[in-house]
Amino acid sequence: MATTTDFRADQSLSFTHLPHPAPTSVDVRTGILAAPGFSTQFSDHMVTIEWTEGANGQSGGWHDAVVGPRGPIPLDPAASVLHYAQEIFEGMKAYKHADGTITLFRPDANAARFNASARRLAMPELPEAVFIAAVKAIVQADRDWIPAQDGASLYLRPFMIATEAFLGVRPAKQYKFIIIASPAGNYFKSGTPAVSIWVSQYTRAAPGGTGAAKCGGNYAASLVPTAEAFARGHDQVLFLDAAEHKWVEELGGMNLFFVFADGSILTPPLLGTILPGITRDSLLTLAREDGLTIREERYSIDQWRADAASGALLETFACGTAAVVTPVGTVCEGDTSFTIGSGGPGQVTSRLKERLVAIQRGEMADTHEWVVPVA
Ligand SMILES: *Cc1c(COP(=O)(O)O)cnc(C)c1O
Repeated sequence: MATTTDFRADQSLSFTHLPHPAPTSVDVRTGILAAPGFSTQFSDHMVTIEWTEGANGQSGGWHDAVVGPRGPIPLDPAASVLHYAQEIFEGMKAYKHADGTITLFRPDANAARFNASARRLAMPELPEAVFIAAVKAIVQADRDWIPAQDGASLYLRPFMIATEAFLGVRPAKQYKFIIIASPAGNYFKSGTPAVSIWVSQYTRAAPGGTGAAKCGGNYAASLVPTAEAFARGHDQVLFLDAAEHKWVEELGGMNLFFVFADGSILTPPLLGTILPGITRDSLLTLAREDGLTIREERYSIDQWRADAASGALLETFACGTAAVVTPVGTVCEGDTSFTIGSGGPGQVTSRLKERLVAIQRGEMADTHEWVVPVA
């Protein structure tokens, strides 16, 4: 029997809860959670919410919010997401603290960025309160799926697709918002090895393009450059700017930071071609509190190489929700390469990572109201 929960904050939308007919058995689930691997195992539930344009050109609305068993979704072969890639997504995590409390980290920032992506892709915005209520609803339904091991979490993937069956090129009039969840282990087991990155000749985003939106299309375009980096034995691909092929932008799915001997820390500015990472923003706040001088400035690959050689640059790291903070050890461009610092994780990188992880896991006071309990 379906039960319904009302959420006061979101005007009129309430979630219908459909019971799962055959939830994963405790034994099987315990086995999966004992060795969580990123992205191949999924929890029992999903959230779906529909959007339909109103009659007579009226702006549309969200309806039919459901927390139910996870499963295939019906989709017409003419659904516009399949042809013109009207799709956006978010990536966030639910954590289980030592005392059993379940929390989210800055879900309001994910909700706001989701709507910024929606605007760029001509998709309807989802009220932030509904986005957060939906995330809490799936976390509650799948609370037994949150691994408790050190560094582990339940990875949440909210996304939206255009579902209208229509082959003309225009914004669709029907959309589906979905959240699925996947238990995630510690991205790197003990300690964090420094990664080797490959500077791509391909570009990820051009001025005026979709680089600041979290959309699937950006990732489709990054697969060949990433495969090229892997084929050459590197861990990650680095993209330079599209106009001059000179300025460092970001990795395939992580923002970059540079730590200097003069006590400053630099990250490329948000000028529309890089993704405004929530980890990036959080680390900027922590670094500022640590007394580091913040520089949101463009940084060229040539300056980077020169600074690494002279010792002016001590550390480089990449950051994002999935891997949190990852030190960069070596950088390869064509036939040349250079090493950063000792080639391993640096002191500032390690300290910032430890502080962020401690806040996320409830082991350090959260003075920024970043940690949100799932009631
Ligand atoms: C999601 C993403 C990031 C990191 O963002 P976080 O909010 O820190 O997870 C960085 N770059 C790209 C291209 C991304 O898609």
